Amino acid sequence: MIKGVLFDLDGTLLDHRAAADAAITAWLSAHCPGHPRLAEVPGLWEGLEGPYLAMWQAGECSVDEQRRRRLRALCRELLVEEPADLDAAYAGFAERYRRGWAAYPDACEAVEALPGLALGVLTNGTQRMQEAKVRAIGLDGTLRTVLTGEVLGGHFKPSPAAYTGAAAALGLAPEEVLLVGDDVAKDVTGPAATGMRSVWLDRLGLEPAPPGFPRITTLTDLPRLLS
Ligand SMILES: [Mg+2]
Repeated sequence: MIKGVLFDLDGTLLDHRAAADAAITAWLSAHCPGHPRLAEVPGLWEGLEGPYLAMWQAGECSVDEQRRRRLRALCRELLVEEPADLDAAYAGFAERYRRGWAAYPDACEAVEALPGLALGVLTNGTQRMQEAKVRAIGLDGTLRTVLTGEVLGGHFKPSPAAYTGAAAALGLAPEEVLLVGDDVAKDVTGPAATGMRSVWLDRLGLEPAPPGFPRITTLTDLPRLLS
């Protein structure tokens, strides 16, 4: 029986892509006005996210260093001059990114429609930023448990210890928890290896679900799935 629900954050509750796309486009427009590849920048930046975040998650560098490396890689790809102060340049992007934080229209109502269940967030970002995002979208009263690898012994999704640690933080066994998220490996097949239940939130409606896993295209369908 499901007694708790863990939500992924970026791409699930908060529209990270829209905020990041707008922020990196605005950043390049300011840094290099009239750049001919401006339209490609969101895709390039998205492609750099995973590999550079993985360096930090693996303990190879600090979170600030992966940000510097990521911005440097973007500048190299676009053949633009690297900012003299990469930290200040990243801060310019981050400020715009923060201003763009918004919940998906279906998120708050769906989360608040699950009374009686232990609720939390399991996400791979930094603890401070992810807590700030949950506050920004007004779900900090409902989702008091925000868990990242930083508070789970350095274990990020899809490490099995991330899921077992998150279930324990809710006071539950993995089998009693349902994880809802948009990433197949991190949110759907990953938790299943620990006995945790999972559902794929396929917001774009692009692909069939991995065999044996439920798929929803909107969080509005979550309460029905649980009933
Ligand atoms: Mg996600």
